[in-house]
Amino acid sequence: MASTDDFILEAKGLGKHYELRRLLQPVATVKAVDGVSFHVRRGKTLAIVGESGCGKSTLARLLMRIEAPSFGEMSFSGRDVSAIPAQEFRQSVQMIFQDPYSSLNPRKKARSIIAEPLVVNTNLSATERDARVLEILNKVGLRPEVADRYPHMFSGGQRQRIGIARALMLRPQILICDEPVSALDISIQAQVLNLLMDLQDEFGLSYVFISHDLAVVRHIADDVMVMYLGKVMEQGPREAIFANPQHPYTKMLLSSTPDIAEGLKGQAGTQSPPAGELPSPLNPPPGCPFQKRCSQALPTCSQTMPSLRLVQNRQVACHLDPPN
Ligand code: SF4
Repeated sequence: MASTDDFILEAKGLGKHYELRRLLQPVATVKAVDGVSFHVRRGKTLAIVGESGCGKSTLARLLMRIEAPSFGEMSFSGRDVSAIPAQEFRQSVQMIFQDPYSSLNPRKKARSIIAEPLVVNTNLSATERDARVLEILNKVGLRPEVADRYPHMFSGGQRQRIGIARALMLRPQILICDEPVSALDISIQAQVLNLLMDLQDEFGLSYVFISHDLAVVRHIADDVMVMYLGKVMEQGPREAIFANPQHPYTKMLLSSTPDIAEGLKGQAGTQSPPAGELPSPLNPPPGCPFQKRCSQALPTCSQTMPSLRLVQNRQVACHLDPPN
């Protein structure tokens, strides 16, 4: 059992609500993230999974402090995140984006893109910055001569390597990876995932890995958190969740991924995908947010939101007893 000293990032009851207004009057509240609690173990990968609209990208922005939470707490290495100066936090927590092309300035050479965090955050000389750029290019598997190329001269996989190199320049402890391989061809995805895992081993990095692709998550995650309409449905060790999912929504997601579905055949409660569409976050159903799509819903599911409870080595939010 991991102690809280092993947690590099911890969130307790974190939430982000947006109030929609018409003619200055509040008309609705979108609960994009609604009271989620989790931790990231030092040197490990927490994958956050769910369909588009489940709140995972909003959560990434909260973790990066791009947006402030509406409520809840977040700590980094045991310190309240809101008390950590912005520059110190920025050095420790960096982000890798889904679309490497749009996140790289097309008018700048790779050398200058990668060195930019050092220009903004350190007093290193141009010569020292250049040495660091060449060192990091080597770490991400790019030759030194590519430093003088512009983003459009690289392939998608190479551009993502440049994005990773830039994110590593300040020697962060955590990388928030927001769908980092979903824009890449399958063959390139595996190369970038392997690179991320090698860099994790070499630098002791911790990752928050946001993805809708469960085959990718199975490859890279140590822990998994499944989100639905801003809430946590199931969270725990990767092996437990992939081998024996407990929440009906996790089962639906896994059964949508052919390789994984094959291994789950015959397990109780495994429902065929897809069972309807994700409801609008503007108008979520009462009680369990998954009730409209759940083939096992009980009368109580439309009235009461189930709390997370410990079931077989992971936490599950479901009224079924036991979930199956
Ligand atoms: Fe299905 Fe009810 Fe469990 Fe929600 S709480 S997942 S509706 S059985």
